[in-house]
Amino acid sequence: MQQRGVTLWFTGLSGAGKTTISQAVAKALGEKGYPLEILDGDIVRQNLTKGLGFSKEDRDENIRRIGFVSHLLTRNGVIVLVSAISPYREIRQEVREKIKDFVEVYVNAPLAVCEERDVKGLYKRARSGEIKAFTGISDPYEPPINPEIECRTDKEELSESVAKVLQKLQELDYITSV
Ligand code: ADP
Repeated sequence: MQQRGVTLWFTGLSGAGKTTISQAVAKALGEKGYPLEILDGDIVRQNLTKGLGFSKEDRDENIRRIGFVSHLLTRNGVIVLVSAISPYREIRQEVREKIKDFVEVYVNAPLAVCEERDVKGLYKRARSGEIKAFTGISDPYEPPINPEIECRTDKEELSESVAKVLQKLQELDYITSV
């Protein structure tokens, strides 16, 4: 029997921990031999969606293209780990409906915590007005209403978040053991 593909969709504010958690999950799955691919928002925007900006239209187009590739991979038995802010609920829902094997992971830390971490120095630049339309500061973020998984990265250790994701994948029969 072929491995069942699934898209794990990590959404949340910049600095919430999407990349960190998805990489740790990928490592755990890779060690068990599962076929996987990572689509990280920052990298995707340098190639697949190069040239797109941060208007609602462009953000939705960014997500639609990531969703398209995720769908192709998912239907071929790959575990796809997407980490993208993906601030708009409606387009996340559209992608979910297309892919079907879709698990939404809400990577949740309060804005103040993300801003304090300021991993890439972007919040500082957004506060000063140098970056316009920055999610959480000057652009909306619509949190998932019923995500399959929520990781509160201000309250739980990375290992707990990773365990939650693997547990859910097992529960949903995408992997056999955690
Ligand atoms: P994002 O991909 O959402 O922009 P990153 O993964 O790049 O976020 O950055 C999140 C930052 O928060 C990292 O520096 C990471 O080490 C830190 N962090 C602290 N606690 C956690 C946690 N429990 N889970 C994930 N990241 C955490």
